Formats: sequence, structure tokens, C-alpha cells
Amino acid sequence: MANTGLVFDYDAVVVGAGAAGIAATGALQSAGLKVVCFEAADRIGGRAHTDTAIFGVPFDVGAHWLHNEHVNALKAPGLALGLDLYPAPENGVTYGLDDSSILWDEVDSLYNAGKQAAQEDAETETATGRPTDRSLADLFVTKGQWSFTAVMTFALSIGRDLPSTSLRDMSAWAGGNDWFCREGFGHLVARTAEGLPFKLCTPVTDIEALPNGVRIKTSSGEITARAVIVTASVGVLAEDVIRFHPPLEADRRAAFELITMGDYNHAALLFRPGAVPLQPDTWLTYQLQPDDTCVARGGGFLCNIAGTNLTSFETSGSFSCALQAAGPKAAIDHGLETLVGIFGSAIKRDFIKGHATAWRHEPYVRGSYAGSMPGGHSQRKVLGRAHAERVHFAGEASHVGQQCTVSGAHLEGLRAAKDVIAQLGQTGRP
Ligand SMILES: Cc1cc2nc3c(=O)[nH]c(=O)nc-3n(C[C@H](O)[C@H](O)[C@H](O)COP(=O)(O)OP(=O)(O)OC[C@H]3O[C@@H](n4cnc5c(N)ncnc54)[C@H](O)[C@@H]3O)c2cc1C
Repeated sequence: MANTGLVFDYDAVVVGAGAAGIAATGALQSAGLKVVCFEAADRIGGRAHTDTAIFGVPFDVGAHWLHNEHVNALKAPGLALGLDLYPAPENGVTYGLDDSSILWDEVDSLYNAGKQAAQEDAETETATGRPTDRSLADLFVTKGQWSFTAVMTFALSIGRDLPSTSLRDMSAWAGGNDWFCREGFGHLVARTAEGLPFKLCTPVTDIEALPNGVRIKTSSGEITARAVIVTASVGVLAEDVIRFHPPLEADRRAAFELITMGDYNHAALLFRPGAVPLQPDTWLTYQLQPDDTCVARGGGFLCNIAGTNLTSFETSGSFSCALQAAGPKAAIDHGLETLVGIFGSAIKRDFIKGHATAWRHEPYVRGSYAGSMPGGHSQRKVLGRAHAERVHFAGEASHVGQQCTVSGAHLEGLRAAKDVIAQLGQTGRP
């Protein structure tokens, strides 16, 4: 592709209409720039999408929890839109324990031990100059029959196995409480996108740096812009779904080896009313046993979501990966049989239908979200750096503190938009 001149079609192009791309497009448009957002899929939202067709009630196919409520960037917009946002109830139930607080106390103490261990690693690194980081598996010490369950309860949402998870990356997480959106988190994200200029079903295949701009090749032709913000996942970027000219730098490629897509999936199960005898939004867990690689062949349940009759079986890491490979029935059956073990076989009679996600198989996502291998915690910043001046990046993977979340993606989208606005302001309009 050759440079054809200095008149650009757009001020800025955004690649991907997930949480980061929506935030970036909105900020660029608000700044008065001529912007367009290309999305490969036939809908916006990316990994934040609420489906109402499958079950007739809101089902978040991806993100559901508004994590880190005290700093969550979508909470205020959701409330301003008049959506029904509410704190996640603290009503966890552990099958097999009369007093579930035993498990939650252990989870809390693991969290604190993890923070302390991460701090020690950081201090060792400063003192010795040698990169120091442990894996989450190092937190797993067999103190009693529930200790592995506590580690997994603590770690389930990470989307990776304990030995391949950086303790320091995990410990950088903002923490705090979770909230829910009754209409669905994906619905909230979509509402923030109203009126923005999206072109759906338009995958971007090539991005070429030009003097003072970029050329973007899509499935429906080429356009030029003064800057681009790429919000595709690290799974998509690492597997060269988009070709860059010049090619991505070696340090970004090295970061792709350490910040990698994990696996986290839902097998949602719809029952007749009252079949799951728990309060709305109860987190239900049960005893998990490690195999010899520290993997649990099980998960947890979010029951009677937002007061509906939908219960979701949540799996993570290589077990989740194996279920995806086995097909949706495997995940649905595993979740259902586990509930039979807890509540008895009558629950099967009340089962209506299920739906299992397989995010690893989504061609424009390729996993759940980007976790860090031990030693990779410092690489998120590399992912957020610009390439060849005018090619900017944003997404959940490059946020430090709210990594792996919708809010982190949104904040990264805003950060990249600010960088572009500053860059274009410096160089003046063509
Ligand atoms: C099962 C699951 C559960 C989760 N649970 C939570 C949760 O409870 N709370 C939470 O905060 N987060 C959760 N997450 C993570 C959260 O969904 C993501 O961190 C966030 O949505 C990522 O936003 P993003 O904009 O960075 O990326 P994406 O949402 O992946 O957006 C990128 C977009 O780019 C598009 N794209 C990719 N390649 C191209 C191309 N070549 N051309 C054009 N478009 C392209 C994609 O189709 C996609 O729409 C969950 C994720 C999953 C999968």
C-alpha cells in the first residue's frame, strides 16, 4: 500500500466496538473529531453483551459483574441512564459447610497473604535488581480440606490455572466490592454507545503507518486517517489477525508471550421457578479438589441471576478450555450434574434449557481476557504504548489495576483517545 497524499478521510479510526472502542469513539467524537469505528462482528459490545433472545431474560454472555465498584467507570453512567444498578449481595453459600464464613474467612486471609507476598517480591526486586514474581500456585498450601476450594474461590475469575498466574499482577487489582446491573452489564455498555458512528461487519485486515497518518484496509475497502486506536484483544493481535506495516515491535511481541488470553466461560441454565432454592444472586460453591497440576475440574454458580430463574455455572482456566473443546453440552451437563449432587435429582425435572459460551472460539476475541504469567506484570504498559507514532492501542489488557475488566477497557479507551486528541492538536488539522 502506498501513500497517496496528505488529505485524510478521517481524523481518527477506532478498530473494535467493545468497551474500549466505544469509550474511545465517544471521546473522539465529543472532541469534535471526524471519527469512525470499524467492528468485525454484527453487533457492538465485544465481550460485554447482554442477550435476551436465548432465555427471554437478560443473559450476559460475557461480563456481568461491575467489579471494583469504588472506581468502576461504568457505574456512574449506568446510574445516570436510569438503569437498575445494585450491590452484589454478600450471601455466598458453600455446599458441605454449615457455616460458609469458614470459607470466606480463608479467602480473605489468602487475599491478604497474596498482597503481602507480592509486596515482598517487589521489595526483593528493588533490592536485587532481579525480576521477582511468584505464581498464584505458591499461595496454595494444604492447610485443610477446604484450602484448595478457598484458593479457587479466590482465583476462579482469573481465567487461568494457578501456576500460570502472576501474583504481582493479581495483587495490583483494585479490589473492593461488586455491583450488578439488572438489565445486564452488556446492555449498560450498549446504552453508552448510542449515537456513535459504527460500521459493523467490517473487519480491519491491515494498518499501515503513513507520514502523519495511517491507512486502514478493511473488508470493504481502504481509508486513511490521521490516527488509529486499535482495541482488539491480545489474542487477536498476537495471532496476527491484523497485519501491521511496519510490523509490531519486538518488545510488544515479547509482551504477548507473558500477557495472554485466559479462559472463563458461563454455562447458563434456565429452570422452572423455585428449582434452585437460594436467594437471587447467590454465589454457590462446593468442595473442589486439585489434580496433580493444580487444576480444579469444577467451578462455581451464580444462582437465580437478578431474581430470574437463570443460574450460571462458571468455569476457568484449563478446565474451562477442555469444556469448550468438548462442546456446549459438556459444560451444561457438568453444571447440571453438579447441581443434582447438591440439591438432588428433582432439579433435573425443572431444567428447561442451557447455553454455554466458548469465548476461545470467537474469531475476533480468542479467549476471555488477558492475564499475566508470573513475571509479566510489568508488561501491560508495553501493550498500551503507541506503535509507529499514529497507531494507538487500548483495551482491558493494558490497564493496570482494573485489568481484565470492562471498566479497565473503558478507561484505556478514554486514555488512548486523550493521547490522540493531544497528538492531533499538536500537529494541527490537515
Ligand atoms: C465470559 C466472560 C466473563 C467476563 N466477566 C466479566 C465481569 O464480570 N466483569 C468485568 O468487568 N469484565 C468481565 N469480563 C471481561 C470483559 O468482558 C472485558 O475485559 C472487556 O469487555 C474487554 O473490552 P475490550 O474493549 O478491551 O475488548 P473487546 O470487548 O474484545 O472489544 C474488542 C472488539 O474488537 C473487535 N475486533 C477484533 N478484531 C477486529 C478487527 N480486525 N476489525 C474490527 N474489529 C475487530 C471485536 O469483535 C470486539 O468487538 C468477562 C469476559 C468474559 C469473556
